[in-house]
Amino acid sequence: MIVMKFGGTSVKDAGALQNVASIVMARGGKKPLVVLSAGAGVTDTLISIARRAAETDTKSALEYLSHLRERQFTTAKTLLEDEYRHNVLQAFTQQFEELEMLIKGVSILQELTPRVLDHFMSFGEQWSCLLFEQKLLQEGHNAEWVDSREVMITDDDYTKSTPQFDITENRSRQYIFPIIQKNHIVVTQGFIGSTQQGITTTLGRGGSDYTAAILGSFLDAEEIQIWTDVSGVLTANPTIVPDARPVREMTFNEAAELAYFGAKVLHPSTILPAIKKKIPVRVLNSHQPDDDGTLITANNTQPTTGILPNGDNVVKSIAHRSGITIIRIQSTRMLMAHGFLAKVFEIFAKYKKSVDVIATSEVGISLTIDDRTGLDNIVKELDEIADVHVDPDKAVFSIVGENMKKAHGVAGRVFTALGTAGINVELISHGGSEINLTFVIKEEQVKRALLALHDEFFTQRKIHSDKESQ
Ligand code: ADP
Ligand code: ASP
Ligand code: MG
Repeated sequence: MIVMKFGGTSVKDAGALQNVASIVMARGGKKPLVVLSAGAGVTDTLISIARRAAETDTKSALEYLSHLRERQFTTAKTLLEDEYRHNVLQAFTQQFEELEMLIKGVSILQELTPRVLDHFMSFGEQWSCLLFEQKLLQEGHNAEWVDSREVMITDDDYTKSTPQFDITENRSRQYIFPIIQKNHIVVTQGFIGSTQQGITTTLGRGGSDYTAAILGSFLDAEEIQIWTDVSGVLTANPTIVPDARPVREMTFNEAAELAYFGAKVLHPSTILPAIKKKIPVRVLNSHQPDDDGTLITANNTQPTTGILPNGDNVVKSIAHRSGITIIRIQSTRMLMAHGFLAKVFEIFAKYKKSVDVIATSEVGISLTIDDRTGLDNIVKELDEIADVHVDPDKAVFSIVGENMKKAHGVAGRVFTALGTAGINVELISHGGSEINLTFVIKEEQVKRALLALHDEFFTQRKIHSDKESQ
């Protein structure tokens, strides 16, 4: 069996859902598991409704809700014939009544807890599943929606819950496997889970990819397909680099680094479940289903010989993430006192703050974090052992390629290109995983840096090969 996950733009309206149905029917084989996101913008709108309610802006919360209702009802009416539409509209009506009550409740309490926010967010994926299940039935296919809250069991860290793998594995085999055995198509929500007590949770924004990978690994899928709105993992973020192009093949390690360092096309946790069972992950474009996309496997298919010394053919893609903060910590004691580093990391661990890039010198350490919540407490504790300087508005870049460890000259090219573009590099980390070169610059220079680097590693190479083929 294969897992086919479709993201927000792929299910955004009746036309998109019709297209997804065609893809599933043409390429799903006999027994795909289809994981669906909420329609594009739906999760954002649900969050905004919940926040407005908490700010007692009930009127605008209800207005937004009525736009959502209109959108869902229109989709149902366009996509489905009477017989199949009936059940969906009945469910929609109940769900929108529930949301209206939730808005009123949150407005009265003037408080939006993460648990309640998860409840708000959970409707988008349900709407996609309700519609899609009926669409498949209408097309004469055996399809069943399995509510992911029965299967994806998580802890109660609302809005960013962690799956409990043992229970989820059992539940996948219990609830999904028998339906697949019958050659029926299973449809389920990405992103949404529940605690063992049945309280709705979510896996963190963009978490539908993660759902697909987890379920795929528990069901021993032959392939996990991530269908999105671009033709694979590209050489850079296409919203900044218009001529970014798909990378045909990459390794799990390369994809994991890229996702971690900001390539939004894959949720950062997606690759881990696939690695465990060595299940290939394919990133495909639902708007261009015949494009090859990107195949992610354990194998490094790039030749290890014949690598050009200057790094051509080595860099696979460039990821970046904005909103980064550098924390510079200088030991106030004489040089690097024994235990200083341990104490620093202990403080970050205490506040569950993950650190991305680290550079040390004899008297201090600089590191980056991507989320400043709770930073005040960390700084207060660090102040007791060091001079601390917080430097916000940065961006982290990661140049990724498995064969970089065998090439030389890549770092030289990176920093020459940045220097020529007038960009100051504030922190560098190389060698952590051997397959990436990571550095931090000012956020305002992201576009210029990315264009310069893409030009250096991809555009120029294209010009060379164009010349060669003439
Ligand atoms: P979905 O809703 O299908 O999950 P996302 O918006 O989460 O889609 O991810 C796809 C988007 O990721 C693309 O439209 C693109 O703008 C962005 N993106 C950022 N970096 C990359 C990259 N290196 N390769 C491909 N897409 C990228
Ligand atoms: N709908 C969720 C979000 O927008 C999950 C996803 O699309 O992956 O974050
Ligand atoms: Mg996504």
